[in-house]
Amino acid sequence: MTIQIHTFELQILKFNLQHITTAVVTSLLASTSMVLSPVAHGLEVKISPNSPQLGDTMSVIIDMEDHNNNTLPVVRKDGKNYPVFTLAPKKYRALIPTTPLDQPGKKLIQVISDRKEQQVSISIKSRKFPTQRITLRGNKAGLRATAQELNRVREFKALQTAKKFWHGPFLRPNRGRVSTIYGVRRYYNGKFAKGYFHRGVDYAGASGSAIIAPAAGRVALVGTVSQGFRVHGNTVGIDHGQGVVSIFLHLNRINVKEGDMVKPGELIGTVGSTGASTGPHLHWGLYVNGKAVSPVPWRYSSID
Ligand SMILES: [Zn+2]
Repeated sequence: MTIQIHTFELQILKFNLQHITTAVVTSLLASTSMVLSPVAHGLEVKISPNSPQLGDTMSVIIDMEDHNNNTLPVVRKDGKNYPVFTLAPKKYRALIPTTPLDQPGKKLIQVISDRKEQQVSISIKSRKFPTQRITLRGNKAGLRATAQELNRVREFKALQTAKKFWHGPFLRPNRGRVSTIYGVRRYYNGKFAKGYFHRGVDYAGASGSAIIAPAAGRVALVGTVSQGFRVHGNTVGIDHGQGVVSIFLHLNRINVKEGDMVKPGELIGTVGSTGASTGPHLHWGLYVNGKAVSPVPWRYSSID
């Protein structure tokens, strides 16, 4: 009961977060939002947050006190294995993304190690996403992406670098107001687009305003209109490690090159309107193991 009240309070807190220091919120989240599995044979599994909603990233942390070899545990959901990384000796973690396209409800997460198996049940809450109605006239469906940009972006989103570069909450990448939030769904000519959701956050920053790295990482993608980035426009991708990547679209200037290591807050480029964009804005997409997740929990709580 106490935990439920705290969770409810956290929901309210999330609405007022812009005005509260992240440090306070981080400590609150860290102390309350976790599901603990019963301890079975020295294999303990914690999932946070304890009440995830669509768009959240689930962090599955595994403690194995009597684990004496180097084999990583296996983490599986819906028949799919997720990459597991070592956080500390005998402590491991997998990140499981959720998106508006997932089915909410009760899910089982399996953790298997040394022939021991632990199943943790987690309930993923549904969530209402705003909708937009788009009218397309004539036969023109707008700009089509080129094979080059699709391939390079696909390869970038598939990165699963073992090293973890980020620490603590992510920074806001641009000072402009948020013009479109994560997860917005669309109707095209009155028909619901089942596979579409806004895979990031848009900031209505002025043309030429600074874009900074929200967290540390390695620049793993730089693409330009002249290289065929017709829809994405001038693009920068940062690999934060362990399956977490950020992509920044429609840039004017690009201030980094592939292979550069960036620190949080470092200038990576400026806002533009290149590619399929109707006005200057920054689109920031945050991907976990290939799926676009809500950046909000990454901004306001610490997923470490
Ligand atoms: Zn966008």
